[in-house]
Amino acid sequence: MPASPLRAVAAGAAIAALAACAPQPPRVAAAVAPIELAEVRHPDGETPDWWFRAGAAAAHANLPQRARAKNVIVFLGDGMSVPTIAAARILDGQRRGASGEENRLAFERFPATAFSRTYETDRQAPDSAGTMTAIMSGMKTRYGVIGVDQRALRGDCASSRGTEAASLLELAAAAGLSTGIVTTARITHATPAATYGHLPERNWEVDSAMPAQALADGCVDFARQLAEFRVGDGITVALGGGRSGFLPETQVDPEYADLRGKRRDGRDLVAEWRARPGAAYAWNAAQLAAVDPARTRRLLGLFEPEHMRYEAERAQDPGGEPSLAEMTAAALRVLERDPDGYFLMVEGGRIDMAHHAGNAYRALGETIEFARAVDVAARMTSADDTLILVTADHSHTLAFVGYPARGNPILGKVRTGNEAAGEYARDATGLPFATLSYANGPGYAGASDSQPEGVKRYPHRPKEFQPATRGRPDLAGVDTAAEDYEQEALVPLPAETHGGEDVAVFARGPGSAAVHGSMEQNALFHVVAQNADAIRRQLCAIGACNADGVPVTRPARERLPGAVPGPR
Ligand SMILES: [Zn+2]
Repeated sequence: MPASPLRAVAAGAAIAALAACAPQPPRVAAAVAPIELAEVRHPDGETPDWWFRAGAAAAHANLPQRARAKNVIVFLGDGMSVPTIAAARILDGQRRGASGEENRLAFERFPATAFSRTYETDRQAPDSAGTMTAIMSGMKTRYGVIGVDQRALRGDCASSRGTEAASLLELAAAAGLSTGIVTTARITHATPAATYGHLPERNWEVDSAMPAQALADGCVDFARQLAEFRVGDGITVALGGGRSGFLPETQVDPEYADLRGKRRDGRDLVAEWRARPGAAYAWNAAQLAAVDPARTRRLLGLFEPEHMRYEAERAQDPGGEPSLAEMTAAALRVLERDPDGYFLMVEGGRIDMAHHAGNAYRALGETIEFARAVDVAARMTSADDTLILVTADHSHTLAFVGYPARGNPILGKVRTGNEAAGEYARDATGLPFATLSYANGPGYAGASDSQPEGVKRYPHRPKEFQPATRGRPDLAGVDTAAEDYEQEALVPLPAETHGGEDVAVFARGPGSAAVHGSMEQNALFHVVAQNADAIRRQLCAIGACNADGVPVTRPARERLPGAVPGPR
């Protein structure tokens, strides 16, 4: 093949420069070396080092010319599967009087998209702990573990020593950026914990939930890890639920007089936070609204003893709870004051929980509120300097099926448009069916230990089921769009499960061009690490980069300033 004229000119110029002993001209895009990756046997040959380098190679191949993002926001819709997004966009549109299918959630306007493959090192269908660790650390790891690599065994504190993985939030803090965590779940729950914590067991959220052996081996609960986080200048903003994990067992909760804290070590981590210079604390919406960002160096908000309320039930909260969009705005108002930039993670934590409960009404409502939070962040920031990633950790079993006509209520029963007036489409036994259903979970038709055979209602926490004796329930007189209706489930389980298929990624801002194609989930870390300049330079400073300044070597977390070594 003849050389192109352009290439011939470039080659000629390079030879002329060499001949004159002048310095080489700067490298052009095509000259940036691809990252070589050794072939390994799967899964036996996969190691933490291999995962890190594989993720780096994939992100680099997607965008060899690095961008320079000043700020990074990672939005994580927990369990936000593609059917969840499609159904939520329609419900959002229909609530505003439109047909709905043409509606777009805020992140569906972003220019870059990809598929994210969510399997863990040991599970085909994953959980939130291992998947968020992949996004935060650049390496896939095991089911149930947080902030530690696959060499740690779940629930075994001693085995996790030395396997702690540096997270994007830790790297950002070490680089001098402000950092934030916002969630509607307990702030010690799997997704937020993976931004700051390191433990081989996701359930060790508070010391009273930990076995004696784990405490004896030196493992420290997630609430304490958050409160004692001292990498760089520490965590700037933390907003969510989970107050009980921060208060001693002897202390009455400020919102619910019949509840107490859950800490057995006697420590009041809220008081310890408030004692730090420039620290603010809020446990209700009014206190959060009163925070003055100009006078706040760090902000903690714990709005419920456990998870925050579903958006659908938020108005019933006695103390008043902020919405996810309000928390996102409050966090950004503090973070945006840092001229060096910030890293923020925002989780829609209860999309997942509503799916587990078999209740699409709440899952879609949480998704719509999550999209509102993305919209707030997109409006408060610039695509010129802020990289926003929106993704899910894993899928769920929600199915969106049945040929409903355009504009048919998304929570309703299927009408194809071919039925007689007032009629519904019928299954092969003559019964109507809804557009949304679950492959498994508590919506199964058989009698459970707490509800009779037939349609199930939220809340429903069955321990066991009897086989259905009458087949599917007749939905003719049932309002499937009602808040507490549980969608039908094929396989009876106490809780609906996660799904194993890919989830979507949406991106905007510098570096978002690296988001395309079919990506392993851990490559998302590298999209951020390669294109957020402060984080990339921090990785290079601890020896993780190749000659081109690309982080390719698993970083030595213990070299981060302020990182506490050991199993925590
Ligand atoms: Zn889940």
